[in-house]
Amino acid sequence: MYELGDVVEMKKPHACQTNRWEIVRMGMDIKIKCINCQHIVMMPRREFDKKMKKILEKKSEEK
Ligand SMILES: [Zn+2]
Repeated sequence: MYELGDVVEMKKPHACQTNRWEIVRMGMDIKIKCINCQHIVMMPRREFDKKMKKILEKKSEEK
């Protein structure tokens, strides 16, 4: 399961062609930030669950 700080890949890349997003807020809505251009997108958690493809980096594995 994803959590705050994880970097995820979405089904579609951002307009800047980057497909690495950091989860910067979790609640009823989820905010993700494009690693490349810092653009932030907010969407309901249910929508995020559909659009998220996989977790690339787990924050909790960082030391
Ligand atoms: Zn971007």
